[in-house]
Amino acid sequence: MTYKTNVGPEDDFIMLSALQHYAFCERQCALIHIEQIWSESGLTAEGRIMHERVHDQDRESRGNVRIEYGLPLRSLKLGLVGKADVVEFHRVDKNSWQPFPVEYKRGKPKVDHCDKIQLCAQAMCLEEMLNVSVPEGAIFYGRTRRRLDVSLDETLRRETEDAAEKAHQLISSGKTPPPVYEKRCKSCSLIRECLPKTIGKKSLVKRYLERMVKSP
Ligand code: SF4
Repeated sequence: MTYKTNVGPEDDFIMLSALQHYAFCERQCALIHIEQIWSESGLTAEGRIMHERVHDQDRESRGNVRIEYGLPLRSLKLGLVGKADVVEFHRVDKNSWQPFPVEYKRGKPKVDHCDKIQLCAQAMCLEEMLNVSVPEGAIFYGRTRRRLDVSLDETLRRETEDAAEKAHQLISSGKTPPPVYEKRCKSCSLIRECLPKTIGKKSLVKRYLERMVKSP
């Protein structure tokens, strides 16, 4: 498999979570990873505590499954660093184990692919680090208390590579795009900092005036 993204120095690495933020909203990604803005609401606190609880657990074995919590990950090809909430290692035979990443999310399954992209990025890190293929993983949703199995197919891998490449470009540009108010804003933890209705309208007016000034 060839990857589009091939970053250079380690300083240029971005957080794995940036892909999820980018896939959800470019501006959210920029606010968090360029401007370092993070808003702790009741919901994000719930999510953070859920992740901390998962990461604080010790590794364990359950029959033919070994479980690692908070496993550090990196991909030189995609320029990513981060942690996997849970990686299960399923015994294949006496000497080999199949990694199976499990990402924990506070809410419920989403229509978009942003959680799946984050999971796929974790799998691609594991593949590169362990030189194995990771064809599947799962996302555990706190609201539904259900685990959703995810097939890490070629389409999702392309989406993940694309998100990695674009998130790198966005973060290295240092420029935060203007907001566009959409349905997703209602579930965004940064809606108060972003002000998509107010700033969005202003940037529309600004763009209109700029066009007027430039037009012959
Ligand atoms: S409020 Fe909307 S535009 Fe602003 S960061 Fe969130 S999703 Fe993006």
